[in-house]
Amino acid sequence: MPLSPEFDAAVCRSLRRRLLAWFVRQRRDLPWRHNRDPYRIWISEVMLQQTQVATVIPFFERFLRAFPKLADLARAEEQEVLRLWEGLGYYRRARDLHQTARRLVAEHGGRFPDDPDMLGDLPGMGRYTVGAVLSQAFDRRLPILEANSQRVLCRLFAERGDPRRGPLRRRLWTLAEALLPVRRVGEFNQALMELGSLVCAPAQPRCSTCPVAAHCQANRLGLQEEIPAPSTRRAVVAVREAAVVLRRGEQVLLVQRPAEGRWANLWEFPHGPLEESEVYEAAARRLVRQLTGFDVVLGGELLTIRHSVTHHRITLVCFEARSRGGTFHSAFYGQAVWLTPVELPRYPVSAPQRRLAEALTEGPRQRQLF
Ligand code: SF4
Repeated sequence: MPLSPEFDAAVCRSLRRRLLAWFVRQRRDLPWRHNRDPYRIWISEVMLQQTQVATVIPFFERFLRAFPKLADLARAEEQEVLRLWEGLGYYRRARDLHQTARRLVAEHGGRFPDDPDMLGDLPGMGRYTVGAVLSQAFDRRLPILEANSQRVLCRLFAERGDPRRGPLRRRLWTLAEALLPVRRVGEFNQALMELGSLVCAPAQPRCSTCPVAAHCQANRLGLQEEIPAPSTRRAVVAVREAAVVLRRGEQVLLVQRPAEGRWANLWEFPHGPLEESEVYEAAARRLVRQLTGFDVVLGGELLTIRHSVTHHRITLVCFEARSRGGTFHSAFYGQAVWLTPVELPRYPVSAPQRRLAEALTEGPRQRQLF
């Protein structure tokens, strides 16, 4: 049965042929495309989730220099992996990657099982990642669906609903599977994503240069700009937070977040949200005592960092404080270390916390402010 009235078997064959021919000519020379090593493909696919290609390239190269083989990643300490992931965000991906590397070594002899069910059973291995790795590495006939291919499919079939959920989501997976060729499946999947990235862009798709324009229903109907339906944006929420650089002589206090939740196992300067109608300074004084147990004298403001996490726009005001004694105890943080600022680069921290850490090692900051 055809996929839609306009898509019979001959159209599908033509579409595959055109797309693959275009990919051979236009594909970008990306470092993870140099061979079909499943390990390299997997690392790249995980890094590329929620992240642009240009951002990923230096991270990918650095990661592969540190862990050239699956066994190297499996042997590494989690803190080392998180440190190399620093700046990419969504740190859960790095922890899952590490756990999966260990399980592949322990349970599968250090090889990627050429079986979607077995691979899908490992941490972080969703349907997209399994399809991407197995189709590219072993030419398994498995579909992929991510933002780029989703947009292309919606336009090719003039699907006007919300592609992120519900019946259309399921239909897009069915379409992605039905369109797959018998061979060169990995190339076909990459071609679909590449077309979405280079030609079928979210705004102003370049239909005049598109290799599948003749088969595109959105193009025929002039609906490229309306398809896919835009996602409903969540309202932006302003969040106020205070952080404290607690000093003891030449050292500063770094604390480790719990093993679950946001930024799990990363390190940071103690920080937290303000209570309603609380001012930053009062919050800093309260938070440092609550979160570390130390008796402190609060000093001046160091800097303000503005950053976003999903739909939250966070203003983080950072203070210095001096410890007057006490011992570390915290209901939130797992452990604490006293460090000189030059030791801070060894510890994995979130991007805003790295900005704070770097500010401490800038020349004028090394002289204490009070
Ligand atoms: Fe996208 Fe235009 Fe190509 Fe259709 S013709 S797939 S809208 S670039």
